[in-house]
Amino acid sequence: DQVANQIAAGEVVERPASVVKELLENSVDAGATRIRIEVEGGGRKLIRITDNGCGMGRDDAMLAFERHATSKLRSADDLLHISTLGFRGEALPSIASVARVELDTRAAEDEVGTRIEIVGGKMTRVEDAGAPVGTSIAIRDLFFNVPARKKFLKSEPTELSHVAALVTHYALAHPEKHFELHTSTNALLVAPTVRDASERLFQVLGQDISRDMLPCAAEIDFARAGLPEPPPWKRDADYTPPEPGFLRVRGFVSKPELQKLNRGSIYVFVNGRQVRDRLILHALTEAYRNILPPTSFPVVLLFLEMPAAEVDVNVHPAKTEVRFRQSSFVHDFVRDAVRNTVMKARP
Ligand code: ADP
Ligand code: MG
Repeated sequence: DQVANQIAAGEVVERPASVVKELLENSVDAGATRIRIEVEGGGRKLIRITDNGCGMGRDDAMLAFERHATSKLRSADDLLHISTLGFRGEALPSIASVARVELDTRAAEDEVGTRIEIVGGKMTRVEDAGAPVGTSIAIRDLFFNVPARKKFLKSEPTELSHVAALVTHYALAHPEKHFELHTSTNALLVAPTVRDASERLFQVLGQDISRDMLPCAAEIDFARAGLPEPPPWKRDADYTPPEPGFLRVRGFVSKPELQKLNRGSIYVFVNGRQVRDRLILHALTEAYRNILPPTSFPVVLLFLEMPAAEVDVNVHPAKTEVRFRQSSFVHDFVRDAVRNTVMKARP
């Protein structure tokens, strides 16, 4: 089973930023409103995430490190209607199999908390601990027991920049939460709760960028979208018509005068989940065609929402790829929403 966990770790845990992503998503799923992240050595030496979420009782905390122990799915049918970010129950056992982990957690209804230590997948300690309500999890010496993987980690600044980009992503998506990211010497991000996405944009990306951003919003009722139904002989056995509900796009897109030379400034979320999706990137490239020179990129923060059944988040364990059931419709809708916004603002 340890082997299965390490194999899964190969898929889930690529680098410190992927650990941070899994832990951040767990904190969000736990309903946390304050999330603090500390890293040392770009996350190679230490990643610690402390949240004020629901916490775990001792049994749940021990179970959390068992493979496929998720508290978030009860039936196979739930897979079609995933509303939490996590659902595989793979992240914690995978991470724990390739690092040293210390977990301190307490549920609101418990008087004492629990401390669990795991080294390379083996639970070495379980004891009472005077923890505040919520969860703090420290991941030390990532890949200490898998030298071949450890070798592939990049320099401290590179790994740190991936971690910072990821935390920025989630901070942008959750203006109602307080986020902090610290190294042992610097506070890289301190973002107290703000009222809305545009205040968060200003807070996180600064005035230079936020003043050149345009609000972008569009929605359409899937049922009225006139989506062509495939004829019966072309339907898969499991074909179902589009789920009733809305496709919504909202967020901010940059004016033509704001141009970036890398793609790092594109932040896209689908149903609250950070994605790096080719289809959406392509739609954005099309939206800015002949508006931006081909060598430069816009700054984009977009939230897509659609009925859960319209998007398959189950494509890959790291979950940054998704598959849309109505992919070309979603592509064109995003392209048009962004292009209309940018064109309207042109002098
Ligand atoms: P998943 O998120 O897919 O369910 P994980 O391995 O990431 O699987 O986590 C396993 C379980 O541990 C979760 O289902 C949840 O019950 C619990 N858990 C993990 N992190 C936290 C946290 N920060 N606060 C509360 N519960 C947590
Ligand atoms: Mg998870």
